[in-house]
Amino acid sequence: MQDQLDKCTECGACDEVCPVYKITGEPVFSAMSRLKTAEMIFYNKEIDDARKESIYNCPKCMQCESVCPEEIKITRLVHEARANLANKGIGPLEKHGIIIKGIQKKSNSVGGDPGKRLDWLDEKFIQKKSDTLLYLGCIPAYLVKDAAHATYHVLKKLDFNFMMLEEEGCCYTYLYESGRTDLAKQYFEKNVKKFSNLGIKHIVVPCNGCLKCFKYFYPDLLGKMDFKVSHAVEIIYELLKKRPELLNKVEQKITYQDPCRLARGEKITEEPRELLKMCGSTLEEAEKNREDAICCGAGAGIRSVFPKLSIDIAESLLKSISTKTIATSCPFCTFNLSYASEKKNLEKEIIYFTRIILDSLE
Ligand code: SF4
Ligand code: SF4
Ligand code: SF4
Repeated sequence: MQDQLDKCTECGACDEVCPVYKITGEPVFSAMSRLKTAEMIFYNKEIDDARKESIYNCPKCMQCESVCPEEIKITRLVHEARANLANKGIGPLEKHGIIIKGIQKKSNSVGGDPGKRLDWLDEKFIQKKSDTLLYLGCIPAYLVKDAAHATYHVLKKLDFNFMMLEEEGCCYTYLYESGRTDLAKQYFEKNVKKFSNLGIKHIVVPCNGCLKCFKYFYPDLLGKMDFKVSHAVEIIYELLKKRPELLNKVEQKITYQDPCRLARGEKITEEPRELLKMCGSTLEEAEKNREDAICCGAGAGIRSVFPKLSIDIAESLLKSISTKTIATSCPFCTFNLSYASEKKNLEKEIIYFTRIILDSLE
């Protein structure tokens, strides 16, 4: 980690784009200050409450990393700082602890009733066998049910061979993101065993939190995995590219909002745009788009612990978009942006992309 810290020339480019710094105006919440705080934590120096907060109020949007001329892995340093605080017993924050208890009790991060997890399913659940698992995740299953419903039906209509789990549980990214890697490891191991017993070779996710967790956090703690991980947009794009005639054109003007983890993390920016165009949408672009897109403010545990900050970031993003309708390929962005739009009376309609495809297929 020291080699990463040593590379910083204090050019300030990261601070120019950091959404938390922009919204709060607090120097301690700037990207550069987070690096200093991480260094203090690594060297066991005492930090005040504001510095401690700065380690947890970063949504790990990677905007800083995308402009850093030294290619410093700032979000990795933030993660290491969180893990370091947890190891020393001085992190995470009290609110994280409450959510973690909820996850352990209910196997989801949003306090959902596990008995109602499949409420969105408008047909009888049939336990199919396949080596490909559609892993819905907590946000689609409990909070953005239309994302679960539309993703399931689009894949089914396209004759994609997949199974789902009646009791899915959670990917447990929240444990990792809070720095509790000790707990995360235990729960990751349970999931890996479950997937292995089922013969799962491919996990398809609609949620970018799940994507990052299965693809990067599991190998980080447990080594190489036996399964590959895809976002639903990759699968649906491949399927519809071969059969575009299935789509009816439904004309509407839309802005596609790139989710951080998909655009900056996976460099997937054109496939969702192509799909929306194939459905008849006319696309407008936000001023900052693709790998420069602005964060929605929800990720890496900040929505649950710092809701005001999260909603303020979402509000500023929504105000920078001119169209009423916004499509995205992240259920968590859909949730946070919809919530902020309603709370701040911005009259935006935020849609998970598979809804547009399903409407076009019907
Ligand atoms: S990841 Fe985002 S919020 Fe965190 S320091 Fe970088 S730019 Fe700021
Ligand atoms: S952009 Fe990179 S080099 Fe410049 S201040 Fe930020 S971390 Fe340091
Ligand atoms: S990443 Fe997905 S499964 Fe994991 S906690 Fe978030 S919504 Fe739930």
